Amino acid sequence: MAFDIAITGAEIATTTGAFAADVGVRDGKVAALVQPGEDIEAAETVEAAGLTLMPGLVDVHSHHREPGFTHKEDIASATAACAAGGVTTTFAMPNVYPVPNTAEALESMFERYRRSAIVNWNVNAAGTDVDQIPALAAMGIAAFKVFMVVDTGRDYPHMPGIGVHDHGRLMAIMEACAAVDVPLMVHPHDQALMDHIERGFWERGERDAKAYAKAYAAHDGLIWDSAVATLLRLQEATGVHLHLLHVQTERSVELIAQAKARGQRVSAEVNPWALFLGNEWENIERLGSYALSYWVDEHHVAALWDGLRDGTLDLVSTDHAPHTREEKEPGWTDGWKANTGTPSAQFYARMMLDAAHRGKLTLERVVELTATAPARIFRVGGKGSVTVGADADLVLVDRARTAEIRDDEVLSKIGYSPYAGQSYTGMPVRTFVGGRTVFADGEVTGRPGTGTQSRRLDRAVSLR
Ligand SMILES: [Zn+2]
Repeated sequence: MAFDIAITGAEIATTTGAFAADVGVRDGKVAALVQPGEDIEAAETVEAAGLTLMPGLVDVHSHHREPGFTHKEDIASATAACAAGGVTTTFAMPNVYPVPNTAEALESMFERYRRSAIVNWNVNAAGTDVDQIPALAAMGIAAFKVFMVVDTGRDYPHMPGIGVHDHGRLMAIMEACAAVDVPLMVHPHDQALMDHIERGFWERGERDAKAYAKAYAAHDGLIWDSAVATLLRLQEATGVHLHLLHVQTERSVELIAQAKARGQRVSAEVNPWALFLGNEWENIERLGSYALSYWVDEHHVAALWDGLRDGTLDLVSTDHAPHTREEKEPGWTDGWKANTGTPSAQFYARMMLDAAHRGKLTLERVVELTATAPARIFRVGGKGSVTVGADADLVLVDRARTAEIRDDEVLSKIGYSPYAGQSYTGMPVRTFVGGRTVFADGEVTGRPGTGTQSRRLDRAVSLR
């Protein structure tokens, strides 16, 4: 029987090991895995000897900036970066305008994705209006998101109306999310402590990007640990599935480990900036606000790698967050004025493959952290594994290829990467979404509108 596409000669990477097989794709799904060299008839054959075939990456935390902030990025440019980065499903964060905290605003965002997305997508709706949560949940979203941070020297990316740092309101939101059984993602941050800490910096006249990085990291990450402790206790009280965004301290990892040992329903993520950018003070000196600028001290970074290896930390997502150079430049004199966030969707597969290359993680663990776990945890069916019947959302990677990240290859609208100059071994060379090639030979070939919504299933999915 004939297939639409045959992928031959590659090794297949899974969470339990790699094996050699040829893959037949039909009607957008993986239809067969056969012995290498077995006759496999297909309209198109992709010769992939020497390459590794992985499930496409599932990035549950990305800022696409549309609608409202499309001078930074839009759905087409963000999903082009995804295609080139091996990301086949991307979840958008809700700090756009209008904020998707009503069914009407969310539906109008969905319309944009149907028109423009090159890869599969979903939107993490804002959970700021408790009354709207049931209607939003019914739209197939995979998570709600709230920020505990409110900007004090600028009005983006954490604009008024999107931050919730009142614990009573947070608890009400958690109860509402628990009632509809949709996970709540929270950006942990203790705003009251931050207000106090940053006042001290300002009174001493310390305002540049370095001061900003130090203020956030003050007392060894107090603002984050305090928030994580509160959130975990609230999770216990409400039973919500809590997903902790951008974990970056040793103490937070300990708290999460304790909560998991207690059987709490919590998942946690790490972002590339914590492992490959803010992990070196030299980067913050050199890049200022272009480095985000969260500073993750050495002992924290070691705890993050340990947590990623031992399963305390469940997944790696990007926190892809582009801002223009004009929005970053003020950081040299006032870190609080610069927009915070860094783009990474196009390049984090390289970083994670490099971690496997250097022995920091196994390839199995990389597959789990970037694809299988996010699909399972957020219940998106058909994603996150290369198995018969799964969606043909796949990425071919060359694990031996070493390349330096360059600004001139950046597909994100802003045209630069804070990772420029860094070299990694291992990179995506071809990406398939629903069996269609959306990236090959260095070119994005996917058309806007190729992607579909990766809806949350009502019941748990089992994935290998
Ligand atoms: Zn984010």
